[in-house]
This record gives sequence, structure tokens and C-alpha cells, in this order.
Amino acid sequence: MIYDIRNYSHAELTSIIRENFHKPDPRLFELARKTAFKYYDGRIFIRGLVEISNYCKNNCFYCGIRRDNHNLERYRLTPEVILACVQNGYALGLRSFVMQGGEDPGFSDDTMLEVIREFRRNFPDASLTLSLGEKSREVYRQFFEAGADRYLLRHETASKTHYDRIHPPEMSFEARIQGLHDLTSVGFQTGAGFMVGSPFQTPEDLAHDMLFLKGLNPHMVGIGPFITQADTPFADYPSGGANETLVMLALTKLMLPKAMLPATTALVTLLEGNRKPAFDAGANVVMPNISPLDTRKLYNLYSGKLATGAESAEGLDALVAQIKAAGYTPEFSRGDHIEYKE
Ligand code: SAH
Repeated sequence: MIYDIRNYSHAELTSIIRENFHKPDPRLFELARKTAFKYYDGRIFIRGLVEISNYCKNNCFYCGIRRDNHNLERYRLTPEVILACVQNGYALGLRSFVMQGGEDPGFSDDTMLEVIREFRRNFPDASLTLSLGEKSREVYRQFFEAGADRYLLRHETASKTHYDRIHPPEMSFEARIQGLHDLTSVGFQTGAGFMVGSPFQTPEDLAHDMLFLKGLNPHMVGIGPFITQADTPFADYPSGGANETLVMLALTKLMLPKAMLPATTALVTLLEGNRKPAFDAGANVVMPNISPLDTRKLYNLYSGKLATGAESAEGLDALVAQIKAAGYTPEFSRGDHIEYKE
């Protein structure tokens, strides 16, 4: 069978990636689409995203909110504002929320615990995903016990040599991977993920990503193109491509048919807002922004980031209409991974 990629070797994965980057094979996308209908019935899960802080103690070479970017106005939402954003999304019908931020020492783990507990008290039938970077296993455990359901921690690249070229020396590939194991062991639905087209990345590196994902078997995989950000050390490196990202999405759908795959904001930015190619490659999650409008431009991971969202009924209606027009079914539930449903 073609694209029986779960049985491919590293060399076979490398060549299939290289070939599809050169000329995408429509059969790959047909298979990914079929797989998305087989496992999730063509449903697209909607999650409201709140970007809680753009302070970050890390200095990732690619990222616009890195510590050494002094060209950025920083903000930190209060627990009250975060919960008000959720309340607003809840009133619009959303039942799945994501809180993401930089690794902000000024936003303490205790404050986050309060936010999680308050979320759980007020919205018992909604799910909560966190994406707050690397914490100790004990903190992950406390977050989970307090009522968070999922945690996204992209591994960024599964090749250690590549990881070390896009991060400063104080960051460690091993710590990142350990984080993913810790998250899963405390009970989280866990998300890994990687950028496509980041500086120095080769098809061999991406083949490692595929094999790594097969071994880890995460519940979610966030895949987005690297997009150049002018105030970073990688300002002069070109962005990754939409096509390449779609190919990696489709291959990931075939590798992990049950995984939740967001149509990431970075990809949708390159697609100029049209999500259909991402859905057709197997993406089944959208994360419209429900952060306050005035802070949204400041969560500036990369240049040109789309800042439209679902903070208003109109924004959400437009998203729902787009999903339907693409031939998919919008889904407002908690949106658990198949294995977490009873
Ligand atoms: N601080 C958290 C989450 C926030 S960053 C963490 O460490 O997990 C969320 C994701 O944005 C990162 O995982 C990275 O893959 C992506 N990202 C950062 N800079 C980017 C860029 N220039 N282009 C595309 N994606 C980027």
C-alpha cells in the first residue's frame, strides 16, 4: 500500500518527504482526508485561545517574544481578565479553551493554579488546555489535579543537533522531551509538535520528527511553518512554506490517525486565512483568538500573524461558516481525544 508510513524506515520517510516537498502527491492528501473522516467524521473542534502573557525568560532564536527582544511592549493578563475572556467565549457557545503564554516568572504557578481552579468551578463542562512551556513534573501534576485537561509542549524538532542550533545553550533538548513524558505520566492529554522550515532543518530532521511522534504517540500535534520575525537572530532566514507544512500535516495524520491536529495560526497566516487546505490535509482543530483585542498584536511570535478571532459572535459565525463551506462539521464540545471518551 502506498503511504503505509507507519512501517517506513528513516530513509524511506526522508525520501517521501523530499519527493512531496518537490511535488505534492494528491494521493497523500486524499488519504489524509479519508483518515480524518474515518476517525473524527470530518468534525472540526473549536477551541478559544487566550494568550495570557508575552513575557518570556527564554531566548529561542526564532521566537518574537524571546527575552532579548526589547522592541516589544510586554503584557500580562490578570486572572480576572483571563476568566472574563473565557466567560465571553462560553457565552458564545465554546466549551474548549486554551491558555498559552511565554515562560513568565511574573505569572506564578500559584496564580495559574488559582486560574485553573476558578475555571473548573465556573465552567465544569468545558475543557482546558495549557501551553505555558517547561515546568517541573510536580507543577504539571498540580495543574492537572486542579482541573486542566491538556498540555501543549511542542518538541520543536526531534533532532538534538538541530534543536541545539535553534536554541541558546541554556535550553536543553533532553529537558524538553522529559517534559513531554512528565506531562503524559501525570495524566494530561499531551501535545507535541514542530515547526516546518525552521533554519537549518533538513528532510532528514523531519523524518526524525515522524519517528519520534510514532514512538511518543501524543494526543495532539501542533505543526506550523517557521515564520521570520524581524527582531530575532533569525531575522534573515526565510519562512517555511505552506505546502511543506501541509505535507507534514498529512503525513502526521497517517502516522497518528487519532491525534488532534490544529490548523495552526502560523499555517493559516501563510494560507491568508483560508483553512480548507489545512482541513484537507487532516487538521481537525481550530483555535480562534479570544484574547482582549488590544493585547493581541503584542503576542508577536512572528511577523504578519493573523489577529482575527472569535471574541465576537460575528467572528465565530464567520469561522463556523468557513468550516461548513469547506465541507466539514464545526464541533463545540470539550473535544477530547478519542481515547479519553467513555
Ligand atoms: N512558551 C510556550 C508556548 C508559547 S510559544 C512553550 O514554550 O511551549 C508557542 C509556539 O510558537 C512554539 O512552540 C513555537 O513552535 C511557535 N513559534 C515561536 N516562534 C515562531 C516563529 N517565528 N514562527 C513560527 N512559529 C513560532
